[in-house]
Amino acid sequence: MTGPRPADGGTGAAGAPSHTGTFGASGIIRFSSVAKEYPRTGTALAGVSLVVAKGEFVFLTGPSGSGKSTLLKLVYMEERPSRGEVRVSGVSSSTARGGDIARLRRKLGIVFQDFRLLEDRTAEQNVLFALEVTGAPRAGMHAKAARALTQVGLASKGTSLPRELSGGEQQRVAIARALVNDPFVLIADEPTGNLDDRATRGIFQLLRDINAAGTAVVMATHDMELIKRSELRTIELNRGQVVFDSAADPAAGGGGAR
Ligand code: ADP
Repeated sequence: MTGPRPADGGTGAAGAPSHTGTFGASGIIRFSSVAKEYPRTGTALAGVSLVVAKGEFVFLTGPSGSGKSTLLKLVYMEERPSRGEVRVSGVSSSTARGGDIARLRRKLGIVFQDFRLLEDRTAEQNVLFALEVTGAPRAGMHAKAARALTQVGLASKGTSLPRELSGGEQQRVAIARALVNDPFVLIADEPTGNLDDRATRGIFQLLRDINAAGTAVVMATHDMELIKRSELRTIELNRGQVVFDSAADPAAGGGGAR
């Protein structure tokens, strides 16, 4: 588990150019007949085909063990499909090498249920870390980190350690860290799973605001209240298969939020 860090430390691979940056008409994320089998536990995903468009907000739901985290790991290419192809921003799971994946991860923001902050570093240092690992120029780093913390409503908390912050605030730091490299998509794996109702609403509104500013968001959640009230695209998994997609052709059984 590497979290949002580039797979190869951000140095990139020499040789063939990657195809990053081509969003095209086919979406920023495309799964084509994707299956994922783990060595000991067997099938985690089977026959998954879906497209996420630029700037979309998508809920990913389904019971525990239905494959949500696996699907997200395939998006940030921590895992590769056993069959089929995942394309993210022009990078194909079939051909991507370490350098392609590192470049891709620099353009993805990832947040997790358990925040994954560095406990011995302040909020600002946690955000700065995300810039440092991508090899961003040092000049302007502090201004960028401050901007990201302001964006998530934590302008005054830059010097706080994670343990000095509430759960909702810690998740905001994690979101600032995910945003600081201007990702085209934010991947959020149960980002409100450890939060109370109030903090959940705050984090969800923040994700909506980030989406309204142009960043696509793919959010795994169990929270049916959140899903029902917001009428955003919802993809439901069950036993590794897509059993509902509200953006699907109505003739295929989708069409409309639940
Ligand atoms: P969810 O996020 O919906 O809870 P997961 O994607 O975590 O679902 O898990 C889907 C299935 O894949 C489960 O049966 C789980 O046990 C299995 N699985 C997930 N990750 C691994 C792994 N690293 N190794 C083996 N099996 C795994």
